[in-house]
This record gives sequence, C-alpha cells and structure tokens, in this order.
Amino acid sequence: MSVKQIQDEVLKLKKEIGTTILAHYYQPIEIQEVADHLGDSLGLSRLAKEANSEYIIFAGVDFMAETASILNQDKHVLIPNPESCCPMAAYLTADKVRDFKLKNPNLPVVVYVNSTADVKAESDICCTSSNAAKIVKEISKVKGTKAVLFGPDANLADYAEQKSGIKCIKMPEEGNCYVHSQLTVDDIEKSRINHPDALIVVHPECTRQVRNLSDFVGSTAQMYKRVKESSTNEIEFVIGTERGLMERMAQDLPEKKFYSARDDGMLCYNMKKNTIELMRYVIDHLDDSMFEVKVSPEIAKKALKPIEMMLEYS
Ligand code: SF4
Repeated sequence: MSVKQIQDEVLKLKKEIGTTILAHYYQPIEIQEVADHLGDSLGLSRLAKEANSEYIIFAGVDFMAETASILNQDKHVLIPNPESCCPMAAYLTADKVRDFKLKNPNLPVVVYVNSTADVKAESDICCTSSNAAKIVKEISKVKGTKAVLFGPDANLADYAEQKSGIKCIKMPEEGNCYVHSQLTVDDIEKSRINHPDALIVVHPECTRQVRNLSDFVGSTAQMYKRVKESSTNEIEFVIGTERGLMERMAQDLPEKKFYSARDDGMLCYNMKKNTIELMRYVIDHLDDSMFEVKVSPEIAKKALKPIEMMLEYS
C-alpha cells in the first residue's frame, strides 16, 4: 500500500470515528499532512482541550502526550509509537529535582515543558522556549531571588540567563537536546559561506556560541512566524532545528528557499518513531491501552499548577 493510500485511510477513519490528530512540527511530513492541527507541544496541548472528541492521537514524544493528558484528564490521549521518548526530558527526574531543592531551599524551580509529568509536579512554574526569559524574570521577582533552578535543558537555561540577567542554575549541568546541541560554530560558518544571502535562524536549545553567530533565535513557532512574515527581499533561509520544520516551511512557502544548517539534516530519531503506518493502526485500535498515555490524577493535579502559572505570567 502506498503512503498516499494509507493517508487516505487515516483521513477516512478519522472522520468516521471522530478522533482528533495533533502533530508536532518535527513529525514526518506524511503525518503532518493528515493532522487536524500542527504546532509546538504546548500549543497542541491547549488545542487538545478544545478538541470535540473523546480520543486524541498525539503524534509527538512522550512528554507532549503527558502534557495533553494533564490538561485533558477527561479525554483519552494516545501516541502512535509508545517508544517515542525524548532523551532530553529523561535527563531530569523528580528525585533529582527534590535533591536540587534540598540544596537550594529558597530558589524557585522553573522547568521547561519538555519534561516529564513527575518533574513538572515538583516545580513552581513551567516555561516554553519562547517565554523562558520572561518566566525566569517574573518568578524571581515574585519570590525575591536573584537565581532560579532551571531544567532539564542546559542551553535553554543559559539562553534564559543571557536574556533575563537572572542566574539559572542548571538541573542538571549536562541536560541537552542532541538535535540542537550537535549544531556547531563550524556548521554556522559553513552556512554563511555556502548561502551568503540567507538568514540563519536557530533554536534556543543550541549552544550560546551558535546562537550568537545566528541572525534569529526562536522557538519552532517563532521561527515559523519569522520566516512566514519575512519581507519579499528575504528569499533564503538556513534552518537550525529539526528537519520536519524545514519540510513544513518548504511546503507552505514555495516561493522561499530553505537549507538545513547541517548536512545530515538535523533529525530527531525519537520523533520519527511515529510512522503513518502506526498512525493507521492506532486509529483502528483506540481501545488498546498500550497506546494510551495517562497521567495519574494525583500527579496531574500537581503538574497542572505550574502550567497554569506559566499561562498566567505569559
Ligand atoms: S528534538 Fe530534542 S527536545 Fe525535541 S523530542 Fe527530539 S530530543 Fe527531545
């Protein structure tokens, strides 16, 4: 069966059964094409709340489906491949957060939404890659501190510190996203030589050296907006994030030219574990508990507070 035939079946079943498909920008393009909504993790979780269906298929990684479950305790959230896990989120456990809190009892705990539900439940406030600096500034002002505990991404912690002027103690020091941290100064310098007219846009999860050499730093949604709203003179773009976003941009904006900041295309293998074949299977097996991501009511209640506080401060 061709990809197109599988996509047609998914669309037909989706309509008949009445499910909602949410897909992250880093998903394979054939999954993006059958989704009801595309976006970043938090944006999609908010959309899940508005979904008029009992079942939501979340094409992303584990922590994203967990966040959707926290925000939608009355709905069933399913993930096409339960092995789609985020190695960056795995750097920080609830036990580690408790240890950091014991050693730094007066500091507020800020966690990136790219973290597990257990970790969120131990935090004071969540943040995204687009509002990290603002959240750090606000929470330190409210708590009267000059520093915060921040995890799990050390590069985003560094970016929030650089932008806010508030010290962000990394939980842990080595937390990183392998997709973004693999981008080097050499890659950016090569991109400048190979595409001298292109605007270089990168994600805050890249290292400070890479960010400082780029033209624009922003979350996936901010990068997309920057490119979409670019002037007619801005034709070429070097994209420093997961390949899926670049593919989306190329489809939506055919008048622009896109190049990956790395020759190997910056792939998140964990995101790509979801396939259109698995999507087809799940939509036909909604009651199979193997695919359901359910955060316990107790953890969901605790994890909801820092998410709501972030929304209040945003
Ligand atoms: S791109 Fe990075 S942060 Fe996103 S799922 Fe992959 S490893 Fe995790």
